[in-house]
Amino acid sequence: MVDSRLSGLFHLLLPERCSLCRQAATGPICTDCREDLPWNRHACPSCARPQESGPDHLCASCAETPPPFDASWSAFRYQAPIDLAVQGLKYNAGFRSAHWLGLEMARARAQRPQPLPQLLLPVPLHTGRLRRRGYSQALELARAMGRVLSLEVDTRSARRLRPTADQIGKSAAERPAM
Ligand SMILES: [Zn+2]
Ligand SMILES: [Zn+2]
Repeated sequence: MVDSRLSGLFHLLLPERCSLCRQAATGPICTDCREDLPWNRHACPSCARPQESGPDHLCASCAETPPPFDASWSAFRYQAPIDLAVQGLKYNAGFRSAHWLGLEMARARAQRPQPLPQLLLPVPLHTGRLRRRGYSQALELARAMGRVLSLEVDTRSARRLRPTADQIGKSAAERPAM
């Protein structure tokens, strides 16, 4: 409570700066940086792999072997500055990144015609990694999205039973499907 009051006071005293270019901004990132983000505008509706142009269609891989889920969506492509923001969030407690990433993801999701989900369920960390890191980056993102979309964030219905290897430095093909 005290922290949020203090940060509110700082916002009153200091102009907000864009998290990416440090110019004065009216939100966590400025309009120019926002427009330059690598939005995943055209993608396979099944696995969210980027496509060059619309209309969106099933990729060859999903057409041949449909994945065991109905649909997926990704706001961004994994390119600069998103890759650095995600790595900062995972390894350096980049909560400011969680704030603007979650906000932009939520805004992009709200613009889609599909109905919103009933709740957000962040993929949990294994308890060992959570203990070492002290926070869950997926939970921080889900909280930021949930605030904007007025969605409940469910932290109880999923648990990671096995520790998995770190994904940084791996190609998309080497990463587990989840
Ligand atoms: Zn900027
Ligand atoms: Zn696909």
